[in-house]
Amino acid sequence: MNLLRNIVGFASAALLITAVLPARAERLPQTVTPEHYDLKLTPDLKNAKFSGVEQIDVVLKEASATITLNSAEIEFQSVTVRAGGNEQTGTTASDKEKEQTTFTFPQQIPAGKATLTIHYSGILNNALRGFYLSKTDKRNYAVTQFESTDARRAFPSFDEPAFKATYNVALVVDRGDTAISNSPIKSDTPGPGDDKHTIAFDTTPKMSTYLVAFLIGDFQCTGDEQDGVKIRVCSTPDKVQLTHFGVEIAKYVLHYYNNYFGIPYPLKKLDLIGLPDFEAGAMENFGAVTYRETALLIDPKTASVESKKEVASVIAHEMAHQWFGDLVTMQWWNNVWLNEGFATWMSNKPIAAMHPEWNFDQDVIAEEDGTLNLDAQPTTRAIKAKADTREEIEQMFDGISYGKASDVLLMVENYLGEDTFRKGVHAYLAAHLYGNATAEDFWNAQTETSHKPVDKIMSSYVDQPGVPILTFGKPAHDRVSLTQKRFYLSPKIEANAAQKWTVPVCFRTAAGTETCEVLTPGEASLRTPTTDLFFANAGGKGFYRIAYPADVYATIVAHVESDLRPTERISLLGDEWAQVRADKASVGDYLNLVAAVKADKSAAVVSTALGQAGVIYDRIASTQQQRDGIAKWVRDTFLPAYERLGTPSDLDTPNTRELRARLFGVLGYYARDPKILSQAREIATRYLDDPAAIDATLGQTALSIAARNGDADLFNRLQKVYETSNSPELQSSALQVLAQFENPDLAKRSMDYALTDKVRSQDAAIQFAIEMQAEATREQAWQYIQNHWDAIHGLLTPELGNILVGSTGSFCSEESREQIEQFFSAHKVASADQAAKHAVERINGCMELRKLQGPNLDRWLAEHAR
Ligand SMILES: [Zn+2]
Repeated sequence: MNLLRNIVGFASAALLITAVLPARAERLPQTVTPEHYDLKLTPDLKNAKFSGVEQIDVVLKEASATITLNSAEIEFQSVTVRAGGNEQTGTTASDKEKEQTTFTFPQQIPAGKATLTIHYSGILNNALRGFYLSKTDKRNYAVTQFESTDARRAFPSFDEPAFKATYNVALVVDRGDTAISNSPIKSDTPGPGDDKHTIAFDTTPKMSTYLVAFLIGDFQCTGDEQDGVKIRVCSTPDKVQLTHFGVEIAKYVLHYYNNYFGIPYPLKKLDLIGLPDFEAGAMENFGAVTYRETALLIDPKTASVESKKEVASVIAHEMAHQWFGDLVTMQWWNNVWLNEGFATWMSNKPIAAMHPEWNFDQDVIAEEDGTLNLDAQPTTRAIKAKADTREEIEQMFDGISYGKASDVLLMVENYLGEDTFRKGVHAYLAAHLYGNATAEDFWNAQTETSHKPVDKIMSSYVDQPGVPILTFGKPAHDRVSLTQKRFYLSPKIEANAAQKWTVPVCFRTAAGTETCEVLTPGEASLRTPTTDLFFANAGGKGFYRIAYPADVYATIVAHVESDLRPTERISLLGDEWAQVRADKASVGDYLNLVAAVKADKSAAVVSTALGQAGVIYDRIASTQQQRDGIAKWVRDTFLPAYERLGTPSDLDTPNTRELRARLFGVLGYYARDPKILSQAREIATRYLDDPAAIDATLGQTALSIAARNGDADLFNRLQKVYETSNSPELQSSALQVLAQFENPDLAKRSMDYALTDKVRSQDAAIQFAIEMQAEATREQAWQYIQNHWDAIHGLLTPELGNILVGSTGSFCSEESREQIEQFFSAHKVASADQAAKHAVERINGCMELRKLQGPNLDRWLAEHAR
């Protein structure tokens, strides 16, 4: 799956933060295993229900009169079992809480093969999971989202990832409609009745239940072929003109992966389908990947750089899953990082190769910086963690499974070398084709191919929570002393001295290349290259924090622009910010480093620097005088860089477009420079008049700034764009900007609007999370959320619940914290316990940071912002 990202332009907060809590296991018995499912489903799109006939071929390890499988919101009409030439009819007993049903038969079914035949019916729900309704103004679609545990809502099944089976799917659909499933269409026959036809699909390979998909409606597709595989991008008919970009990306990525893995894509076709209502970003169903429309359907001529990057990246992520996840699947959800960490890490490769001008390598390190901070909180969890219940499983899809796991893979790949690592990946996949695997299977394969201690490195990062900080002494000759301990952002938390990691540490050499040494738990020094510029995270790919001696740090800062690579500057900025958070450096030291990169040409470097400057403005500054001081300093420091970029041109590189938009944003948003504000209004109007006339990266930033001070006319205009535009990107951008008006009447209108049926439930909760980000609307939004809780609670899915609950962490006072704790203990949000804890942790962190660094900020501003 792909989680939602980049929901708020200026938000620096990591919103999707969760961990696990203990609960009882809900696993099926391992005595009956499915081999094949024959499914025939008849959805009724108007009345929101469906009926099904299912045959499951199973194998019983031992004779039994009962068989237990998963089902949820299913009504059983009949069940029979055929075994050894004998057929008998059973009774059903469902346990709603466990989502299990037990069939009981009069006589024992003998050990060996048996076939169940089940007649049942279910509902097409509006909850974005299971078999659900997706709607446009014109009609309903019946679609599926089964990960993690919702296949059981569409068909009674052994709904655990290790119960792999083959599937024959047949769908009875209205005349004029089509259907898409995992395999190509085998036959399409008229009937039953005059107004239906029956579409049957080829038998699938062996796969897990959560990867089955069926989608019914009037989808239209654009297609092509690559390496003998038919690739299509599909949408509702009104958006089919936005499918071409996706086809081009998918073709490139398929060929790239075929070469990289040395294992060809295993199916005959790959469909990518944009759905009007969709909870997550996308879902990797084998051969039939589903997407939120904004993550797939764009017009490359008018799309922003970020949108193009996001669409390409999500496509590459889901396609990587066809190998990591679909072909080889984690044995159980405790290792979901084997799916998500891999897909995240892998997706960067083809996109970086296809579009080197997008500087994807820099974005990766900038994102890693956020993950390092997440992992420096006491509520973080180990990558591999207990996940037995639905709630525990749902909370595994977080910044640790995606971000940290992919960062650890990047570090190990960098240490082994790309080619050695690739051989290990191939060995791992080849050993488990159409099967399941564990974390140990992966690192044992890597250890065997590389003859290096990958097992020790990876187990230290996968099995224990947190991130180490390496504190270096002064390098002497070819050695440097160092200590390691767990790093916490809060200076109040004392690390357990026994917790250690095995860390590959890569140093810059005098030639600007790198050399890596492995730090083991017992070691206190490492060999280093002889160089004037000591830098201990070459390429920025190490998953650790660093503290340097003062004079070594000063030398690095003096050379930051002349010698370090952009990725290294990003990691240096992150390490220095971590020192501020831990009260080992002052906020002024950090701002001095920001000033040292003020003329940097890389959008990712400047974004990282300005991102934390934004945190200083939002979280450390508590008086108008402090904010005015920061605003003046930002204007004095970054206006020249913005002006040097000149007027936008069609010839601008993607990096220049992003850099300009970022500088423009910070000058408008924090510095509130009058000239920039009037430019923003003008650019926003031109962008709304004709989205093709303005670079969208700049146009959308201008909209955000204009909305903050905007009036009802602008609000009305954006509302109209949201309701009438055919472009998912523009629609989504307009909707999110509606939540950024600071005028209290308009803020209220935006929240009222989010609760109308004009706003899709996939988007509504996000509107409140955005209102919570800005100080001007935060208090009003929080009151509104409490006063309208029943309506808002009804919109929440697990992921959206996490986003909404997480957004309350943007407060910064004891009083707000108490309110939030009280509110969420009285109003439970499913699968969001950890998000609530983390929100409290963020508030505490803010109060602590403000108290420790507020006086430092005053001192620094007195000198630098006069
Ligand atoms: Zn994924």
